[in-house]
Amino acid sequence: MTEQLIITPSSVDDVVEAIGRAGRDGLGITVVAGGHGLWSHRPDDGMRIELSAMSDIRIDGTTVSVGGGATWGAVAERLGREGLAISSGDTASVGVGGLTLGGGIGWMTRLRGLAADQLIGAQVVTADGEVVETSATQHPDLFWALRGGGGNFGVVTRFDFAAHRLPSIVHAEYTGAVEPAALLRAMRDAMRDAPRELTVTYMDVPPMDPSAPAGASLVAVWAGDDEHRLREALAAVHDVEGVTARITTPAYRDILAEMPPADPDQQSPGFVGGNGLFAQLDDELIDRLVAFRAAHPSSVVFMRSLGGAFGAVPQESTAFPGRDATWFIMAGGFDVPGLLDDAGRDAIAADWAAMQEGSLAEYGNFVSVDEPQRVPGMFTSAAHARLREVKARWDPRNLFRRNHNIV
Ligand SMILES: Cc1cc2nc3c(=O)[nH]c(=O)nc-3n(C[C@H](O)[C@H](O)[C@H](O)COP(=O)(O)OP(=O)(O)OC[C@H]3O[C@@H](n4cnc5c(N)ncnc54)[C@H](O)[C@@H]3O)c2cc1C
Repeated sequence: MTEQLIITPSSVDDVVEAIGRAGRDGLGITVVAGGHGLWSHRPDDGMRIELSAMSDIRIDGTTVSVGGGATWGAVAERLGREGLAISSGDTASVGVGGLTLGGGIGWMTRLRGLAADQLIGAQVVTADGEVVETSATQHPDLFWALRGGGGNFGVVTRFDFAAHRLPSIVHAEYTGAVEPAALLRAMRDAMRDAPRELTVTYMDVPPMDPSAPAGASLVAVWAGDDEHRLREALAAVHDVEGVTARITTPAYRDILAEMPPADPDQQSPGFVGGNGLFAQLDDELIDRLVAFRAAHPSSVVFMRSLGGAFGAVPQESTAFPGRDATWFIMAGGFDVPGLLDDAGRDAIAADWAAMQEGSLAEYGNFVSVDEPQRVPGMFTSAAHARLREVKARWDPRNLFRRNHNIV
């Protein structure tokens, strides 16, 4: 039976004190913001720093400063009142901390880039208890590493973002008894030259998954109020046989899914499979994804369009990999007891591994297992080498190791 020291700081000084104590007592630190990451649902030893009391949101023009423990739902709600937004993730309860430090793929990534791309500064309490302001001009090495390198470099007590005007959005759902390959090809062709305002997500899930309608479906978001342009850009999808479209104009805050973090005392189901950032979605990959779903009844396929502003950010200017990717793809099966046997698990893993070979990199924020050998595959080799240098400078004792660890 292990014991964990739980700290809930309400100020930067509290964080400094906690880190000092962890350093003196040799305690491994688990940092928790939204609580959706792998390490936050593991009762463990060491020190757990829960940042939820540090979640204030301040707006100055279009610059938004957010406490390290805030969630994206709260940020979207607050910004929405001012007609502003930051491209974040899709779920309200996901933390600004974990999502931003790992990258952050959301509904406006094609228009504005990752959540990390909108970061213009951050306040960090480092492993030796120093409070450091970072930006493109202040400790730029640390600022570079924070944008994709995860929670390896200290506790971020404040994130500064450049928000953008977003008075309204158009939201479209495409469901029905559709042929998955036909929907995938229409989506792929439509997105090839689509305006940056348009982002789509494809899902194909079995009936037991409560998060989406069973079968192949598509959700599209137009970052703006022009429904006509969304329909025009997705004309090929509207024409797919069997498709039913439902188009609404909600507030951005209202399209963020509600999903509470997992209970730390409950074992979450594992996920066999993985994800990849892919430069191309060619016919062969489409056929393999369709065959994968058909071969494994409990499997899921999830895809998000990239490109646009995401791809316009130079590869070396942040730690995030795969800037040439036009698609993010996640495929696998939930490892619920009784659902998958060893043979099923192995077959899913092998099929996914064959597809993943064609990807540029794996997105660490969606890797929900602690497998250190996968960490180099989450970065370009140049970025991984540079992250190791930054780590050696800012956390040489590896106090912050409960993450996809840079060693
Ligand atoms: C339901 C669900 C939906 C998701 N949707 C998306 C999505 O749409 N887009 C996307 O890109 N990803 C998404 N993800 C993945 C998500 O980005 C990661 O799980 C992320 O790590 C969660 O961040 P968190 O703050 O909620 O989790 P936490 O467990 O609190 O944090 C995760 C890790 O981040 C680090 N960390 C967090 N905050 C700080 C801080 N202030 N200072 C230093 N280190 C910190 C720590 O290392 C911590 O272990 C989703 C995950 C889930 C479970």
